[in-house]
Amino acid sequence: MFNSEMYQLGSKRSVIRELFEFGKQISKKYGPENVFDFSIGNPSVPTPDEVKEDLIKLLTEKDPMALHGYTSAQGDPNVRKAVAYNLNQRYKTNFSEKNLYMTVGAAASLCICFRSIISKEADEIVTFAPFFTEYRVFVESNGGKLVVVPPKLPDFQIDVEKLEKYITPKTAAILINSPNNPSGVIYSEESIKSLSTLLNKKQKEYGHEIYLISDEPYREICYGDKKTPFVTKYYNNSLVCYSYSKSLSLPGERIGYVLIPSEMSQFDQMYAAICGAGRSLGYICAPTLFQFLLINNAGKTSNLEVYKENRDLLYNGLTKLGFECVYPDGAFYLFMKTKEPDAYKFCENAKKYNLLLVPADDFGCPGYVRIAYCVKGDMIKRSMESFKKLADEYK
Ligand code: PLP
Repeated sequence: MFNSEMYQLGSKRSVIRELFEFGKQISKKYGPENVFDFSIGNPSVPTPDEVKEDLIKLLTEKDPMALHGYTSAQGDPNVRKAVAYNLNQRYKTNFSEKNLYMTVGAAASLCICFRSIISKEADEIVTFAPFFTEYRVFVESNGGKLVVVPPKLPDFQIDVEKLEKYITPKTAAILINSPNNPSGVIYSEESIKSLSTLLNKKQKEYGHEIYLISDEPYREICYGDKKTPFVTKYYNNSLVCYSYSKSLSLPGERIGYVLIPSEMSQFDQMYAAICGAGRSLGYICAPTLFQFLLINNAGKTSNLEVYKENRDLLYNGLTKLGFECVYPDGAFYLFMKTKEPDAYKFCENAKKYNLLLVPADDFGCPGYVRIAYCVKGDMIKRSMESFKKLADEYK
């Protein structure tokens, strides 16, 4: 007998995956140049040449037994040292290999964190709408309950006042994602500071830790002078989930980490719990080849400027057509208000013009759509005609 919950999860595609598959189908009918697929967050800029060359060098020069062998469960110590060194250079921190656990991307990092801290049934993980849809799956399959704080309009920053009402003695962690998928908003330093003040107060009140889990696959995708505040500097009980999927355009290679700062309460036990969670999930020894690639490339990024150009093209184009959009400071998503209350209907209408947009109901924000602009700039320009037709329908 199979597990019926797993059957449900596996037999139903996400709205994003449905759209992505639909896009492939209609591309055959209309030609790919006439389909405007804004559904999925697959990076559209290549991995830098120097990283690719380093990969080739590893494959040709490194001892294959080491390159394709197991590493320590938590990752090769020299790789973790290189990642820690890079973080210290950038954030003036003091991490070492002892603060890192290498993973197969941010999804695994998140699951490991949830499993390591959720101990009682119905321990709660609190997040803010809009949120990455997979959070519910990751939290629930690790025994917890996802609690969602409604969005703070119009800026979609953290609503600390509202959050206080959602924290209870069952709260195990607050989960944030900045730059945010799907809103593109970067939580400001002020927001992070007031969040930290509230969490310290609540930890004292309840007499147990409330962790801050920061999901940061888009950390480096920030535009202009905007920066993602580095949470361990503001709150000791932080766990950082990172991935090279977006910054180095390596989503298929499955490489990332969990960062566990030494300042955390009961650090040694927490690190052991992270290792235990990785072990119980089978997330040990992240891909060795891509671990080794990080030794020389931990701080490099693809050409992320391209996403800024896309942001400008799309935001300016859509607002000119009368659409109301949240101004994105980072990531590669634009959050747009729909011209009718039912986002599903709006997206169905958009399909008539071969525009594939994701209704944001599953992100916790009905009445909005997510537009993933990790696409060719040329496609954004060509899509404007279709967006115009869609806007005209609602005049
Ligand atoms: N968290 C967020 C907010 C994401 O957008 C994604 C992927 O799109 C992930 C986590 C998962 O990232 P990874 O591919 O590194 O597992």
